[in-house]
Amino acid sequence: MNEHDSEVISGMLAQRGYMELPESTETDGAHADPDIIIINTCSIRDNADQRFFGTLGQLKKLKAKNPDFAVCVCGCMMQQEHITDRIRRSYPWVDVIFGTHNIHEFPDMLEELYENRAKTERAKAAQPAPGAHQDYARAKHEIRSSRETRVDRIYEDTEEIVEGLPAKRLYTHKSFVNIMFGCNNFCAYCIVPYTRGREKSRCPEDILTEVKALSADGVREVTLLGQNVNSYRGVDRAGQQWDFTDLIYALNGVEGLERIRFMTSHPKDLSDKLIEAFARCDKLCNYIHLPVQAGSSRVLERMNRKYTREQYLQLVKKLREAVPDIAISTDIIVGFPGETEEDFRQTLELAEEVRYDSAFTFLYSPRPGTPAAEYEDQIPEEVKHERFNRLVEMMNRISAEKNAAYVGRVCTVLVDGPDKKSRGMLSGRTDEFKLVDFEGPEEITGKLVEVEITGSNTFSLKGRLL
Ligand code: SAH
Ligand code: SF4
Repeated sequence: MNEHDSEVISGMLAQRGYMELPESTETDGAHADPDIIIINTCSIRDNADQRFFGTLGQLKKLKAKNPDFAVCVCGCMMQQEHITDRIRRSYPWVDVIFGTHNIHEFPDMLEELYENRAKTERAKAAQPAPGAHQDYARAKHEIRSSRETRVDRIYEDTEEIVEGLPAKRLYTHKSFVNIMFGCNNFCAYCIVPYTRGREKSRCPEDILTEVKALSADGVREVTLLGQNVNSYRGVDRAGQQWDFTDLIYALNGVEGLERIRFMTSHPKDLSDKLIEAFARCDKLCNYIHLPVQAGSSRVLERMNRKYTREQYLQLVKKLREAVPDIAISTDIIVGFPGETEEDFRQTLELAEEVRYDSAFTFLYSPRPGTPAAEYEDQIPEEVKHERFNRLVEMMNRISAEKNAAYVGRVCTVLVDGPDKKSRGMLSGRTDEFKLVDFEGPEEITGKLVEVEITGSNTFSLKGRLL
């Protein structure tokens, strides 16, 4: 979600004539220094928080070198008052602060900053001559300390969805598409409902128009985004309500589009209708990310996930009955407050039973303001780490085994382009979201090609272009 927000920010700025500099700017003298830096933050776990404040501290030096430089901060962290208070108090070199609900205002806020600076400079220039030298020194210092020129606007939540924002895509052939914003689930550990607000679904016609335009522009694959896509409830212009599956069937008919993915679906809302859509919609990929979080019903209840271990396993069974080769990935939190060794063992057992293709595993991180952060039975760090290592080892083994079973198969791969790590190699994704590296000409980037799988490891496959 944040990644796509960054694409929208880039798109809006490009429209106003700003240019993105390559990442190497800070170290590579060949490039111009940036005039603006925008930090889009995530608040899902504590390490993201830490990294943000570390980066912000480093920017002080750049600001001292170039007082005209603009430091802009946004994203989920800005929706938390203790964070913005800390920035306002301790980081006077921050120039623009905006939140998740007013991304669309950012280009105007940036212009407001430049106007504020010009006004301040004019006021300083109009000051009487005596002590001018000293005043000049002070003025420079004050511009550097941006408090008086700062543009700072955060909204709690908003009803409206701003349509028609441009987005600068990382790839020409695939794109994220937001279908909804916010979350109503309040899982006990999670900060998202507080930072992203309540659930809001986009109008289905707006989504269809966007996807048709993307397809006409060469996009072959869309990933529909939402915190819980299967609780999508869009109302069309005729007042008719659409659920997530209605949207999938409509998108399946978009000419030129080849693949539809989505992220993320909550097990409690995974309907039989959606499971059936996997079998019936040829463009819907054979892949689902279905976060389980924990394998013990007792922990799931304390997490407020609203499903049991048995219900989750039943869903997996139904999915595999409908689409036998569907790839399934998951999110698992280790060390949730009160998790016993027996609870954790149930997580291991569930993972072994489902045999996930891949998993994102997280150490539980208490988020201020969420109910679980107040639970008294927090798990000691060393216990969390020890369980985490056991889980990762097992998940990696299963992923490697699942990938090995692909050797000898022929897969259709959407080519993403040159592999970032090995020269002369291309990489792409199969329908099941498996990463495949293979040799081939760069010109086939963005095309669907047939690749014979010749090797595998834990996180990717190797192949030969047919
Ligand atoms: N809406 C998605 C998840 C968004 S957050 C869903 O419900 O599946 C992505 C993942 O981060 C979550 O699935 C969860 O596994 C993890 N996560 C969220 N809050 C966390 C916390 N406080 N500590 C550790 N992991 C967390
Ligand atoms: Fe967070 Fe739960 Fe909402 Fe996902 S469904 S964003 S984990 S509260």
